[in-house]
Amino acid sequence: MQSLKRICLVHYHEIGLKGKNRSDFEMRLRNNLTFLLRDYPVSDVHTISGRLCVSFKPEISFEEAWSASCFVARIPGVARVSCGFICDKDIDDIKRTAISVATEADDFKSFRVTARRSHTDFGVCSMDMNRTVGDAVSEAFPSVGVSMKDFDLEIGIEVVQGHAYVFGKSIPGIGGLPVGSAGKVICLLSSGIDSPVALWRMARRGAVCIGVHFSGRPKTGDASEYLVDDIAHVLEQTGCVFRVYVVPMGEYQHQIALLAPPSLRIVLYRRLMYKVAQAIAKKEHCKALVTGESLGQVASQTLDNIFATDDAVKLPVFRPLIGTDKLEIINLAQQLGTYEISSQPAPDCCTLYMPKSPETHAKMAQVYEAESLYPVDRWVDELVSLAEVHDYQSPQRAKH
Ligand code: ATP
Ligand code: MG
Repeated sequence: MQSLKRICLVHYHEIGLKGKNRSDFEMRLRNNLTFLLRDYPVSDVHTISGRLCVSFKPEISFEEAWSASCFVARIPGVARVSCGFICDKDIDDIKRTAISVATEADDFKSFRVTARRSHTDFGVCSMDMNRTVGDAVSEAFPSVGVSMKDFDLEIGIEVVQGHAYVFGKSIPGIGGLPVGSAGKVICLLSSGIDSPVALWRMARRGAVCIGVHFSGRPKTGDASEYLVDDIAHVLEQTGCVFRVYVVPMGEYQHQIALLAPPSLRIVLYRRLMYKVAQAIAKKEHCKALVTGESLGQVASQTLDNIFATDDAVKLPVFRPLIGTDKLEIINLAQQLGTYEISSQPAPDCCTLYMPKSPETHAKMAQVYEAESLYPVDRWVDELVSLAEVHDYQSPQRAKH
């Protein structure tokens, strides 16, 4: 018998995937996986009907293959990952492979076999495969029992096209669409907890995300910029961020604080931020802005203030977290791996020149009057030219 070849089988949701959509989706997910797995011992990623197969290099251990599978599960577009072996479409080979899967499984007292065949050109039906492979495993492990409901180990078998895939470990993926399948957006990225989660949610829907961070420099230090860079490195691991613009806004906030009524400062800062983000969106061919706001969370996130900031721009503003509670957002940030970074305090443009009692119901007439006290369009141009660009590793930049 040849030595077994380790693989992981990547499943995606097929709802709505037809014709060209389907081949685009598969091609994109394949390219994204190939790029993102570049530091793993992977020899090839290829498409087999309705799934992708990641082939590992021969020297890879079970633990390494499982760790790579868990990583794949975090990549947008992946619905499930099953880690195991590829073998011949031959019942004896399938039995031997199933025994190998059981041999390296954690201590198990009970198991079941769940077989599927995608094509009926394999002579053994799923029920018969369950039975014969189950018998072979029981013979090799006489002290364990078969159990359909409460089992410690499920040995999955999929017969697809020319091969069989046999696996003992499986993990749900984060789902969504592969990054690159839904256009480009600009995400307003603070070093706080919410906005990285909002960006990630858009990436999971297939958008290529470009961050814009407003720092309080030169009126504050650059700590928030370092935190945003750390956050971007986390998002970069799964291909969720393409580029981040850092805009030093402190001097302009200082001018607003000198010129405009204190209670309106927050709305005015935000309108300036949105306008700069919109100008960067134009340069980058992005069709929407994204923020991490959730309704009523803080003074600037009342419906009136959201209205007053949206009014500053023409582009649609997406708020993927608008109906999400803070605890749910914290939970997501923990799963994403950005929570610890975001929990570190760092002054940014939002903490600079905060009024004692910010307006929670901004009136548009007063907002326009205050904004007319300074040359907002010129400031937007100046801020865009002051922006510093940081690129992150992304499958969209890689040549295929
Ligand atoms: P976060 O945790 O995302 O900072 P927050 O609860 O602190 O959110 P706000 O400070 O009101 O809320 O910010 C609301 C949204 O505005 C943020 O989610 C983000 O999209 C954007 N934003 C706030 N501050 C900045 C900044 N310094 N740079 C870029 N975007 C920002
Ligand atoms: Mg914030």
